[in-house]
Amino acid sequence: MGSAALLLYLMAASARVELSPDLAEWKREIEAAASRPILLARVYTDPEGKELLLPPDAPERPAIAALLHQESFVRQLVDAHALSVTVESPRPLSMVLLNMAREREWRQQEEALLAHELGHLWLEARGFGAPRMLGGFACEAIHAGDMVQHVLIRRELRARGIAYIPLWVRTLEPALAELKRSPAPPAGCRAIGRLALWVDVLAGLTEDQWPARAEFLEKLAATSPELAPQAAGIARRVTAADLDDIAVYRAVLRDVLETVLALARAAAPGVPSGVSAGGHRLPPGVPATQ
Ligand SMILES: [Zn+2]
Repeated sequence: MGSAALLLYLMAASARVELSPDLAEWKREIEAAASRPILLARVYTDPEGKELLLPPDAPERPAIAALLHQESFVRQLVDAHALSVTVESPRPLSMVLLNMAREREWRQQEEALLAHELGHLWLEARGFGAPRMLGGFACEAIHAGDMVQHVLIRRELRARGIAYIPLWVRTLEPALAELKRSPAPPAGCRAIGRLALWVDVLAGLTEDQWPARAEFLEKLAATSPELAPQAAGIARRVTAADLDDIAVYRAVLRDVLETVLALARAAAPGVPSGVSAGGHRLPPGVPATQ
């Protein structure tokens, strides 16, 4: 038994995820629409934070383990509370993986977290896919997709009576604390992550829902003024557009992706200009959403 396996044995950790009846029903609907199963699993990290651990009771363990051997996927997962992804091999599957290393940040809100990830797969199943980005810009593609998809996901969660605000605010509080502590603007794709965060708060959260909203937006504007026009422009676009119309959805997604890539190009020349957006499945190992 290797050290990781031994650790799991000692922890008696389980990969199993229990869904509420409502979410289980929604999952079945998505699986039927997409004609592929959705696997749910908890992924742990060893105490030193060096190794991801997948318990032996994970469903279709080899398929999930294959993803966890891909560096680009792992990099996204350790930064996220959860990820959803669709792969075509060894067979068409979607997966929702929970990052247990950050469990204390979402433990009280697991239902909202799972519902959010199902929301991404629900959109994909209906043809409202995340951008496809080959060639090393998965991070930019994910954030561009999130800025558009989150508008539709939030609306669907509201319609399903899922309280998503508490989890969201819980993740924004440390983000605000971090902004106060370290005013330096982030570099690389973390700058795009900041833009996505900014757009989400502008487009999806009111002062009543989070009293610190205005302070948060002020701090963003003060620390990343170069992103302010894009944040305001994208928030306006995703709020005003009829995203239920798939042609509109794809056009907005393409524009947001172009905006994001223009920022990435300005920061690091050499980013490809050709992109395709909407209605695609990501290649194996590239996280669809977070
Ligand atoms: Zn998301």
